[in-house]
Amino acid sequence: MIQIEEAEKILNNVEPQKLIEKIKIKDSLNRVLAQDIISKIDMPPYNKSAMDGYAILSGDDSERFKVIEVIAAGKVPKKEIKKGECSKIMTGAIVPEEADKVVIKEKTKEKEGLVRIIEDDGLVNICYAGEDIKSGDKVLECGAKIRASEVGIISSLGIDSINVYKNPEVGILTTGSEIIEPGKELLKGQIYNSNAYSISAQFAQIGINTKYGGVVPDIREKTREKIYDFFYKVDVLIISGGVSMGDYDYVPGVLEDLGVKLHFTKVAIKPGKPTLFGTMGKKIFFGLPGNPVSTFVIFEVFIKPFIYKMMGHKYSPFFVKGIMREDFRREKTKRASYIPVNYRDGFVDIIEYHGSAHLSSLSKANALLQIPRGVKEILKGTNVNVRQI
Ligand code: AMP
Ligand code: MG
Repeated sequence: MIQIEEAEKILNNVEPQKLIEKIKIKDSLNRVLAQDIISKIDMPPYNKSAMDGYAILSGDDSERFKVIEVIAAGKVPKKEIKKGECSKIMTGAIVPEEADKVVIKEKTKEKEGLVRIIEDDGLVNICYAGEDIKSGDKVLECGAKIRASEVGIISSLGIDSINVYKNPEVGILTTGSEIIEPGKELLKGQIYNSNAYSISAQFAQIGINTKYGGVVPDIREKTREKIYDFFYKVDVLIISGGVSMGDYDYVPGVLEDLGVKLHFTKVAIKPGKPTLFGTMGKKIFFGLPGNPVSTFVIFEVFIKPFIYKMMGHKYSPFFVKGIMREDFRREKTKRASYIPVNYRDGFVDIIEYHGSAHLSSLSKANALLQIPRGVKEILKGTNVNVRQI
């Protein structure tokens, strides 16, 4: 059995192959940039009116201003504003060069082509050319994950296609003679398959579509056939169940027969001890203990950062600081443990949790609390960092 840090080190030492593809910006959500984004334009590209109003010379204290033209967004101003004059201007339109102030419409009164300022709020209301981004600026770095805001930024620079890293092909396989698919009648001794779907959903949350290989019964030959048949179609194979010490846990043996190098098969983490990680050439194998909370936690702790690395992105989990609302105590301290908690308004509530099969406790949780190995209790009032899920 190895410690979590050691397992992380092993995973960090694997250097995945990263391929690049060009895609349209409309398809880029959740992908990772394989290039820097350098702006070819100033943003905004011209001095732009921030409001609907009247452009004037800022020092002009005339009683009334004659409206000399109306500047709509997209139009180029034609007339030069002088003292005692103004141009009616719309939000987003070019502010005439000599004007250095836009008085918002709400602070004025216009009558027969003459404008009176009712109240000077002292605001300039101009977004200056290049104040957000200058031509030549590096706006985004290679390795950045594209969220909705990045889709917007890249589009705003006039860029319609970008280089991103190719997503890994991920396959999910479920093992267990007791496992049946949802939708069927549950017979004695059977358990509905939740892992295939929850793992696939966890991948979908980070932008990866998975292939599903179905359920394999706990028969060595069948497990072998299925893994042999499936692994070469994907870059990463996730196998749920069958990785532990039971008489019918065939996954580690079958993988070794296949020639997979097993880097670890047990980690000092609770839940999720019998987690397996293997490689064969560039192919990656994760074997997860079948209990659903173990599967969920192992994805969060090990698989997610690893897949992000394959996607070209350096991921760090999002932690929030909270105060324990009650005491937490445990008997065994050999393994670091993750428990479902609820973080709200700066406090951490412990959720009723019966162990790694208790999937419904996860849906009441919005974070995981790590209890380091050796730690027996965390008392009420202690400051802790919880990992958002
Ligand atoms: P295993 O790791 O195969 O020994 O399975 C441990 C526990 O997880 C057993 O109680 C299984 O019934 C349960 N389990 C295994 N696979 C799944 C699955 N796909 N969905 C839900 N529970 C599972
Ligand atoms: Mg099993």
